Amino acid sequence: MAGEPQDDCLFCKIVSGTIPATIVRETETTVAFRDINPQAPTHILVIPKAHHRDAAALAAAAPEVAADVLRETQAVADEEKLESYRVVFNTGSGAGQTVWHAHAHVLGGRGLEWPPG
Ligand code: 5GP
Ligand code: ZN
Repeated sequence: MAGEPQDDCLFCKIVSGTIPATIVRETETTVAFRDINPQAPTHILVIPKAHHRDAAALAAAAPEVAADVLRETQAVADEEKLESYRVVFNTGSGAGQTVWHAHAHVLGGRGLEWPPG
């Protein structure tokens, strides 16, 4: 069922604490933790605690939680003292999505080129 924890999902395991992560913020509905393979000086993932396969599925099933995720990206940027930052939702394997639990990448701390690769 949409939103239920999935046994085979890495990020559900981070939410439950089965797999450790460097958690920087937590709310009732979200967790933010450092990416294990950072692509910028600050690279933090903000995820909903509930399992949804990507950002669009999250927005369709639980728009208020999608808003919580976006609000948390700003909170993370504030804590990291980022004036400018980029929020990325890779959606689909062709765009680089490898974990099928919705997540926002918050990237900052260096110049970020546009357009991205
Ligand atoms: P995607 O490629 O799906 O957009 O992003 C998945 C992200 O999860 C990648 O940036 C990857 O480095 C990160 N990641 C994968 N496994 C782990 C892990 O076990 N712990 C943490 N903290 N990040 C992970
Ligand atoms: Zn999950």
